[in-house]
Amino acid sequence: MNEIERRRTFAIISHPDAGKTTLTEKLLLFGGQIQVAGAVKNNKIKKTATSDWMEIEKQRGISVTTSVMEFDYKDYKVNILDTPGHQDFAEDTFRTLTAVDSAIIVVDSAKGVEAQTRKLMTVCRMRKTPVIIFINKMDREGKDPFDLLDELEQELQIKVRPLSWPINQGQRFKGVYNIYEQRLDLFTPDKQKVTEKVEVDIHSDALEAHVGQADADKLRTDLELVDGVYPEFDVQTYLEAEVAPVFFGSALNNFGVKELLDCFVQIAPSPRPTLAEERTVRPEEPKFSGFIFKITANIDPNHRSCIAFCKVCSGKFVRNAPYLHVRQNKTLRFSSPTQFMAQKKSTIDEAWPGDIVGLPDNGIFKIGDTLTEGEMIHFRGLPSFSPEMFKYIENADPMKTKQLNKGIEQLMDEGVAQLFVNQFNGRKIIGTVGQLQFEVIQYRLENEYNAKCRWEPVSLYKACWIESDDEAQLEAFKKRKYQFMAKDREGRDVFLADSNYVLQMAQNDFEHIKFHFTSEF
Ligand code: GDP
Repeated sequence: MNEIERRRTFAIISHPDAGKTTLTEKLLLFGGQIQVAGAVKNNKIKKTATSDWMEIEKQRGISVTTSVMEFDYKDYKVNILDTPGHQDFAEDTFRTLTAVDSAIIVVDSAKGVEAQTRKLMTVCRMRKTPVIIFINKMDREGKDPFDLLDELEQELQIKVRPLSWPINQGQRFKGVYNIYEQRLDLFTPDKQKVTEKVEVDIHSDALEAHVGQADADKLRTDLELVDGVYPEFDVQTYLEAEVAPVFFGSALNNFGVKELLDCFVQIAPSPRPTLAEERTVRPEEPKFSGFIFKITANIDPNHRSCIAFCKVCSGKFVRNAPYLHVRQNKTLRFSSPTQFMAQKKSTIDEAWPGDIVGLPDNGIFKIGDTLTEGEMIHFRGLPSFSPEMFKYIENADPMKTKQLNKGIEQLMDEGVAQLFVNQFNGRKIIGTVGQLQFEVIQYRLENEYNAKCRWEPVSLYKACWIESDDEAQLEAFKKRKYQFMAKDREGRDVFLADSNYVLQMAQNDFEHIKFHFTSEF
């Protein structure tokens, strides 16, 4: 198969605890990347299935960084981009979603749609990313499947189409009918064993023989209802991100996972065209281009270098070839680009669209940077969202001012948080989506830059980027709000509103000013 067509680059997203890690581990198992299935809490597996490169992650047991896992499955090359489960790192996950061609959403059958799922789906909708939904933990008592489907449609604002259907749940869970392949998959609650699959015509008596009279009747009625309510599955509607196919299963029991994977590789999109400011770049174009969507530090604590993750958008990436770093207008060669297997990373000679290449980075890259063979293009679609928490960052060791400033700059380049400088008092404000990010920054400044910082409270509600065609009004606004005006790192004007009321008043009083809540507009 053609190198581009056979690639499937996607992310698994979920609210923490829905089973993302478990599902990832099972997929790796099918890909032959790990040999044994085991409980997720088993440390060895946990290490391979999640990224815990950073010391702080190990300490807290939270997956902070995003890692990449690749494997071959049938004729396909699968690239899974792992995302941090903790919601304080949601920004990281948003950015990872800019590098994928599709997503699998894991939903806990008892909890249904949770806050984080809703947020991540918003990003998928914005980008028209096709999604498949996996309803997990069917071995536990959960919500009624029809209710769950209604909830998915309402909460995630997408049409759904079940491609498998559960026979009971919890203690009485007997398996699923695979609508996509018209087959019955019977459940054996065993973490190690492959489950039994039988070809059954659901209209024949054979169904009763397998699941008993009552469940056979119920399944038939359910399936009739499913066919009545949901239009027949059409791959095109999935690829256009209008309909999300839904599978039921249990990741922990390895049930329904292979079915999910088999359908996924078949229907999920291969690398899609990428939008640059100047034009649309198609994957099959002969010349290489790519963008940096993620930078991680200290993968190897003995070497203080970072790794920048580059998504290949077009052409072929070749080791040691000269590439243009567009923002810096500089030609670079990469002698040791890496790719990532579940357990190891290795040097590669070439990579294709859809692949993620790890590039050693000693501070040359920023999130969103573009690499090409010479063309001056800029990939788009890496917006920063208005942070939700704000603190003044202060120097706690006057002897280390230089180190502190360098540390802050580099951490912001990595996209760990956002920096605003108040134009009135010159103080630096860090904006994050969660408390944990402040702790990570403080920890990393100390451990990597030998600098100490202190946080001081600042009462802010939102930061929004402002712009206007009406110069006079813009100036009048800045004058009126001079104590609350800041600049972001690109030098853009940011209004720091200290309450929702103030923000609304400002929007009313200055109707020619646009208030943006993401940095890209
Ligand atoms: P993540 O936070 O989304 O990565 O979730 P994990 O994969 O770490 O799973 C959270 C918890 O749910 C763990 O204790 C898993 O063992 C458990 N879990 C995952 N899948 C299933 C399942 O299919 N059935 C049951 N009963 N538990 C599961």
